[in-house]
Amino acid sequence: MKIHEYQAKELLKEYNVAVPAGVSATTVDKAVEAAREMKDNGAGLFVVKAQIHAGGRGKGKTKNSGASGVILCDTLEEVREAAESLLGDTLVTVQTGKEGQEVTRIYVTDGVDIEQEFYLGILLDRSKSKNVIMVSTEGGVEIEKVAEETPEKIVKEWVEPGMQLQHNQARHLAYALGFEGDAFKKAVKFIMALYNCYEETDASLVEINPLVLTPGGDVMALDAKMTFDDNALFRHSDIAELRDKSEENPVELEASEYGLNYIKLDGNVGCMVNGAGLAMATMDIIKLSGGEPANFLDVGGSANVETVKNGFRIILEDKNVKAILINIFGGIVRCDRVANGVIEAVKDPEIAEKVQDVPIIVRLQGTNAEEAKEIIDNSDLNVISAVLLKEAAEEVSNVLAA
Ligand code: GDP
Ligand code: MG
Repeated sequence: MKIHEYQAKELLKEYNVAVPAGVSATTVDKAVEAAREMKDNGAGLFVVKAQIHAGGRGKGKTKNSGASGVILCDTLEEVREAAESLLGDTLVTVQTGKEGQEVTRIYVTDGVDIEQEFYLGILLDRSKSKNVIMVSTEGGVEIEKVAEETPEKIVKEWVEPGMQLQHNQARHLAYALGFEGDAFKKAVKFIMALYNCYEETDASLVEINPLVLTPGGDVMALDAKMTFDDNALFRHSDIAELRDKSEENPVELEASEYGLNYIKLDGNVGCMVNGAGLAMATMDIIKLSGGEPANFLDVGGSANVETVKNGFRIILEDKNVKAILINIFGGIVRCDRVANGVIEAVKDPEIAEKVQDVPIIVRLQGTNAEEAKEIIDNSDLNVISAVLLKEAAEEVSNVLAA
């Protein structure tokens, strides 16, 4: 689960990670009011920032006003204009895709003068089964680009999950960034506190880009992206409450309400599978047969009529879908029951209308596979049966070529 920058910064503050003062707002007046209060406290520069889950806001542009998602302002009047240009408009960044994301909330922060920008990220390094802390002097730049072009500019330290970051590791990272004197101590403290926050909140990613050194020698996070391990959210009800469903793909959200594990992709062949591993293999087969998977969909262990119907509903909301491949392995669930389930689902008037032009290929393997094939073949529906995965793949290419 992802959260917004303003939420991440509130959380970081609780863990004594230095961040600039800021107030989130959903109206122009509230934003100006927040800036006025900051001004009374001595602020001379303000930053108005679109709160969407995607990154790259600074270089992004809103569709109507053409504003950047991160706007530096010197006066309250400029804060008003910035808020007006962002709220209600749609921001397009490299991470949102061309449809963009509507801005319903902005964050007004006390603007900071920057001496130097750095990158700092903490995430799980799956190849080492450890957490990795990565730093780079190339702040403000996409880290993927740095990793590709100048990997020597990224310095890393690994920590065993459940263990603490050691002081000497934080010192090594701060040293690699070139910090000296008092700022060095602040950087070490920052890194230690950030790691502690990452570990205690069961985060799977914390990205500070940029981490900055100010001319006054302070070290703070100007941006913050945090993602949490969904499987650990039950331990953090306060964090779970930060979920913003409006930022999530509506179809993925609907699928999660049905208890289905669905991820939308860009292809033309919808697939419905029981088991995540088989779903991955099915996606490979679709690609091999010349199609592109339109989604990942794991219906889990119980492939009954209701699940199959919901699976169809979800897949068919995607207008790119030209064919559907159902691949079910009948271990606990019997194939003949699944076959009957599929037929019943396809007869449902709501689904029948939508599948008129979408051939369905069903591959059932395992307990009672033969009976299942017979049930499908004897139905007069637009459903093609297959027993081997290879046969199913061939049917997919035939259907796509037709
Ligand atoms: P992102 O584009 O979504 O990653 O949003 P950021 O929060 O990283 O902001 C983009 C850029 O705006 C940063 O890389 C900074 O260069 C600049 N920026 C953000 N906040 C401040 C600030 O307080 N002062 C100054 N001078 N620049 C800022
Ligand atoms: Mg950033």
